[in-house]
Amino acid sequence: MRTRDPLILGIDLGGTKILTSVINSKGEMLSRDHTVTPAAKGPEGVIQAIHASAKRAVEGASITMDRLTAVGVGAPGLADGKAGILLTSPNLPGWKDVPLRDILQEKFKKRAFLINDGNAAALGEYYFGAARGVAHFIYVTISTGIGGGIVVDGKLLLGSRGLAGEIGHMTIADKGPPCHCGNRGCWEALASGTALAKAARKRIKAGADTTILGFAEGKIDKVTAQTVQSASEKGDPLANQLILKTAYYFGVGLANLVNIFNPEMIVIGGGLSNMGDRLLKPAYRVAEERAFNQSYRMVRFVRAALGRNSGVLGAAAFAFDEMKKELGKPDV
Ligand SMILES: [Zn+2]
Repeated sequence: MRTRDPLILGIDLGGTKILTSVINSKGEMLSRDHTVTPAAKGPEGVIQAIHASAKRAVEGASITMDRLTAVGVGAPGLADGKAGILLTSPNLPGWKDVPLRDILQEKFKKRAFLINDGNAAALGEYYFGAARGVAHFIYVTISTGIGGGIVVDGKLLLGSRGLAGEIGHMTIADKGPPCHCGNRGCWEALASGTALAKAARKRIKAGADTTILGFAEGKIDKVTAQTVQSASEKGDPLANQLILKTAYYFGVGLANLVNIFNPEMIVIGGGLSNMGDRLLKPAYRVAEERAFNQSYRMVRFVRAALGRNSGVLGAAAFAFDEMKKELGKPDV
C-alpha cells in the first residue's frame, strides 16, 4: 500500500442502512461495511452502530484507525455543515440539533466533516462518477423521496450553512398533496416512488380496474412503485397512466432546474430511475416543453454511475475537499 496516500473513512448514514468504507484519494473503496440503522434507538444507538461499522470497515481495509486522515459523513436531512450539526432528519426520529461532527471527532479522534446525503452523492458523481470534469451539473436522485445536489462553477452549492440543494422540496403544485416536510405540493410529494405508490393505492381503493394488486400479493399495503412498474410492463393502462403522471411532475421539476441553473448535465440516480425510458423519456419531453429551448438544448441527461456508493464516496470527497489545503486535491 502507498503509505502516504490519505485515507478517509466515508460514512453514508441512511434512514434504513449505514454504509461505511475506507476510501483513498482516487475514490477506491478499500473496504465496505453495511449495517442496519437502528433508527428507533435514537441518536445514541445510531452513533454506536456507526462506530461498530467503522471498526469493521477499518479492519476490512487491513489498517488501524491511526492510519485514517479524516472522517466524512453524509446524513439525511438538514445538515449544517459549518457547525457540524444535523438540525433535523425526516428519516431519523429523535434527531434534533445533534452535533454529529463533534461526536464523531470525539469517537474517532480524527477530524470529521458533515454533509447532507444528496449533496454528498452529487460530490461523489462529480469526483468519481458520471459528472467528472463537468463544472455545471445537478444531481437528482428519485427514489422514496427526491434529493440532490447542485454544482456550479465546479463547486458544490452549499448555501450559507450547507442547507442548499433541497430540490425535492421545491413547490410544484401550490395546492398539491402534503409533504412530510410540512409544506404541500413539493416535488417529492408528487414525483417520488412514494407518491407513485400512494396514487396507485388511492385509485385501487376507489375501485379502479387494474392488475396492480396482482403484483402486490393482492394486498393494498404491498403496492409500491415497483409493483406499479411491473403492471406497466405487462401493459396495465392504469399503471401506465400513473407512471406518466409521475413523469409529468418529474419533468416539471427538471424544467425548473434547467431554467434556474443552466446546467451542462443533469445526472439522475435513485431506485426509480431504473424504470428507464418508461419514466425518463416522457419526463424529458415535459422538461423540453417547459424550459427555455436554448437552455434545454445545452443539457445532457445522464444516469448516475456510482449507484449506492455515490453517498459514501461523496462524503469522503467532501472530507478530502475540506482538507485540501493540507492534503492537496483528490487525485482525479
Ligand atoms: Zn417537502
